[in-house]
Amino acid sequence: MKILLNNTLSKKKEEFRPIKKGQVGLYTCGPTVYSYPHLGNLRAYIVWDVLKRFLDSEGLKVKHIMNLTDVGHLTSDADSGEDKLEKAAKKEGKNAWEIADFFIQVFKDNLKELNILPPSKFVRATKTIKEQIKFVQILEKKGFLYQTSDGLYFDTSKISDYGKLANIQNIDLQEGARVEKNKEKKNITDFAVWKFSPLDFQRDMEWNSPWGKGFPGWHLECSVMSQMYLGDTFDIHTGGVDHLPIHHPNEMAQSEAATGKLQAHYWMHNEFLKFKDGKMSKSAGTTFDLTDLEKKNISPLAFRYFVLQAHYRKSLNFSWEALEAAQTGLVNIVRDITGRKLGKKVNQKYLEKFQKSLSDDLNTPQALAVLQELLADDQIEDGEKMATIYKMDEILGLDLKNLVKKSLTFSNEEKNLLKQRQVARVNKDWNLSDQLRDQLKEIGIEVEDTKDGQKATRVNL
Ligand SMILES: [Zn+2]
Repeated sequence: MKILLNNTLSKKKEEFRPIKKGQVGLYTCGPTVYSYPHLGNLRAYIVWDVLKRFLDSEGLKVKHIMNLTDVGHLTSDADSGEDKLEKAAKKEGKNAWEIADFFIQVFKDNLKELNILPPSKFVRATKTIKEQIKFVQILEKKGFLYQTSDGLYFDTSKISDYGKLANIQNIDLQEGARVEKNKEKKNITDFAVWKFSPLDFQRDMEWNSPWGKGFPGWHLECSVMSQMYLGDTFDIHTGGVDHLPIHHPNEMAQSEAATGKLQAHYWMHNEFLKFKDGKMSKSAGTTFDLTDLEKKNISPLAFRYFVLQAHYRKSLNFSWEALEAAQTGLVNIVRDITGRKLGKKVNQKYLEKFQKSLSDDLNTPQALAVLQELLADDQIEDGEKMATIYKMDEILGLDLKNLVKKSLTFSNEEKNLLKQRQVARVNKDWNLSDQLRDQLKEIGIEVEDTKDGQKATRVNL
């Protein structure tokens, strides 16, 4: 099937043509592991997971690399301020290595809860220091760098089309992260590739280099790792739009300066998850993470469903009401398919319509609409319907098979209440039966009285 992807680089939808037939090299900018990933961060990983699953379902073998930033990302994206890991460590009374280990595990657990497939390889920035130093040496040899009192900087004026990805000349460079001016920088867009360790205190993470003790600049790792595992030029580079003004132009500039080649053919960016029309960000205190969902009894998979209801290039407004509605929507799907028998034959008409939606720049809201249309189609026999829905879910990743199983699994205590209610009905004790139904509802189990007796379904996912 012809797959169209919106390429930020060419600023249009283009047919996807892999470099090597049947294979895809995919790179996703991973998290900085200093705190719990917020829902805005997680939106990106859900979107790129669907992209990967879709490409895979189209018969392409995807090699997916994701970095884990455990050093070098400073509190200001303009290479000033403290290292986010070192700062978090100080606050917690731990060292930066412990913080990194802890939050890498949190991130991996989050992906699992959201049913996001792990990449072919996770790479920690601190595991590639040797390669990063080598990369800086190449840039230095080619004359792209200059030294200041606090590090080695990349001279962006040496790249004629620097910032082509984001039309950076149109972005107000005085805004946000770049407001802090480093007087030694030649151009406002120049960025550090190697920072020197401060003289007044000892960092937890630092390494010797030809330029002195220090640590790599944040953007460097992605250039190095993508080259190490996917080659000089690979197929698709993904990330959030927050990377458009700084991180991606810098990564791209370094890679192209070092190799003289295009780093990736397709650059894809997902829009923000917004909170009351503002960006969801840690610094603004408007962030929520998976632990907040848990407190509100909202399943991470309901969040996944919520994310897929919007196109990835449209900003999505977060509210608890919208999330609860998504949870209800997902529960309704699960209830609808629970108890139906599963056949082998897939309905090609619906499946093709579903795939076609995704092949149009990953139109997940339309793909979900096709699933709903199939659910409502009484002409399709149960077995075929279920086989098709499960096939679709291999891409959507809502984990419907497990949710169905879960909705029919009860604890001993729950089984006991259900039995009591059955007895009450046999005894025609309607008051007690109603009371027990309310009690069950409170713990997330709905009972329905059918001609074959009571039918119980768990509705809290
Ligand atoms: Zn990156």
